[in-house]
Amino acid sequence: MDQAQQTLKDVFGYDTFRGDQAEVIQTVVEGGDALVLMPTGGGKSMCYQLPALLREGCGIVVSPLIALMQNQVEAMQENGVKAAFLNSTLERWEAAAVEQALTSGDLDLLYIAPERLLQPATLDLLERSSLSLFAIDEAHCVSQWGHDFRPDYIGLDILQARFPGVPRIALTATADARTRKEIISRLHLGQAKQFVASFDRPNIRYQIALKQNGRNQLLRFLKNEHPNDSGIVYCLSRKKTEQTAEWLQKEGFKALPYHAGLSPAVREDHQRRFLTEENTIIVATIAFGMGIDKPDVRFVAHLDLPKTVEAYYQETGRAGRDGEPADAWLIYGLQDVAKLRQLQQSSNGSEEFKRIEQIKLNALLGLCEITTCRRHALLGYFDEQSSEACGNCDTCLYPVETWDGTEAAQKALSTVYRTGQRFGVNHLVDVLRGYDSDKIFQFDHHHLGVYGIGRDIDADQWKSVFRQLLARGYLRSDDQYGAVLLEEKCRDLLRGEESIELRKDVKRKAAKKLDQSPLPDDIDVGLWEALREVRRQLAVSQGVPPYVIFHDKTLQAMANHMPVDLAEFSRLPGVGERKLDKYGQVFVDTLENYSSASS
Ligand code: ADP
Ligand code: ZN
Repeated sequence: MDQAQQTLKDVFGYDTFRGDQAEVIQTVVEGGDALVLMPTGGGKSMCYQLPALLREGCGIVVSPLIALMQNQVEAMQENGVKAAFLNSTLERWEAAAVEQALTSGDLDLLYIAPERLLQPATLDLLERSSLSLFAIDEAHCVSQWGHDFRPDYIGLDILQARFPGVPRIALTATADARTRKEIISRLHLGQAKQFVASFDRPNIRYQIALKQNGRNQLLRFLKNEHPNDSGIVYCLSRKKTEQTAEWLQKEGFKALPYHAGLSPAVREDHQRRFLTEENTIIVATIAFGMGIDKPDVRFVAHLDLPKTVEAYYQETGRAGRDGEPADAWLIYGLQDVAKLRQLQQSSNGSEEFKRIEQIKLNALLGLCEITTCRRHALLGYFDEQSSEACGNCDTCLYPVETWDGTEAAQKALSTVYRTGQRFGVNHLVDVLRGYDSDKIFQFDHHHLGVYGIGRDIDADQWKSVFRQLLARGYLRSDDQYGAVLLEEKCRDLLRGEESIELRKDVKRKAAKKLDQSPLPDDIDVGLWEALREVRRQLAVSQGVPPYVIFHDKTLQAMANHMPVDLAEFSRLPGVGERKLDKYGQVFVDTLENYSSASS
């Protein structure tokens, strides 16, 4: 393992392994199979990149993400690793050159799309080559129940039989036990050593708020906390992504839309700009994101509700892969819930499928409405134990005020019952508040006992009561007309055998800035910008994204330690031998110019 440690420093510039990395690497280097479950940003790639360098032969990486192979390969080449890819985007002669390099032993790592790998010609080619390992990335794609199912992944079960001596390592960021079982059985990984990391992403701060004026809320969030950052804004509809991007541009942000309805050329261009340019916001539907491994996404904002807790975790997980502080920010309202339910109902899935979707949406609403730690609840959803309070989510940072809502809830539920479970929230609130609208008279509701029993509470607060009762499963809404219906669960509450604490909806003050923003207070802004500019120019000249040159963390370390020569520079995190040679001097010069100019 000394050798592994040395290679980690020489090639990647890192001093220590993270989490399970060392053990995984040891397992694979010794020729064993491994199954690795780690959250996004956990450092999965290192688990096969390093063994591929240490073992004899070329490591084959199976990945479904053709669009991103080039990026991955470029990042490896920047570290001086001999990497290449084989997929349908290559011209025939390019592919031939890669195959030639493979058979003559000139490659450390080869990325292949599964459909390509399974072609008989490719399998023959691999048999003629010396292989160090197979890495099956995004291994959950083998699961038929997941949303990323790839039929070609099923065929990967032949690897064991055809290449019995080559260790296999399967990796995924999908946490649940069912998917894990499926991966093991379908890929014949019964013998594999399993590594299951915590799925906590401590650097992500979770914030969930009620939607009041969505755009203003987003604008305040961006201006206060991320004025110069890259991030993702998720919206439910294609139209909304375009409108929101346009509006953000008018507000002075560099924002680009992304959805499946845009032409492939535009999509590719926007994705490329997001990856390569700084301070870029992508406004997207969920069509965007899988496999995006931009490390410095500083925020993921949801203007609309995701469909499930799993989706929320996965989408927010794209923030902060570099381990630096990042925000997961979501606003939601009752209308979102109605819209999602409608979408679910009108889908052509089976009744069973719809029922499961409904349960999953309710779990997400529960997460939105809880008055305790969000992270604790989120991890609990994935069966992971954690402390009761994380200190880095909105409910921990700004404890929620609650009130005894038992009586109000009883009044609300009675009103639903007395009006025949046929009306939506707005009308129910009118009845409670004793308004005289046409609809009230039309249905004779001013003669009901519940008419006007809720004048002590204002309309917004009544809506909040209904929202919370819906989210907690005391009520449900009829999907077609938005009528509110009683659920079995409300009995005890109505009988007075149960009480309920409701959260007070407050207009929250702007959150305080992230504690350690990527630009710490003690770094001079001028120096920071100078370093970023050098990085930007190098990135342009190399045709790679800036973070492929150096991560923010490395720039920060430069500013903090001000290395005066290459020997000092080589000790910075993220500086391997290759990058030291290529870029060290430019940055050392920049630092020197800066300190002599300012002294
Ligand atoms: P994953 O594939 O699990 O989402 P990556 O493999 O992309 O995560 O790693 C996330 C980031 O962490 C990358 O930028 C990578 O360079 C960095 N990283 C990986 N291992 C280490 C380590 N031991 N020390 C420091 N940084 C690391
Ligand atoms: Zn918390």
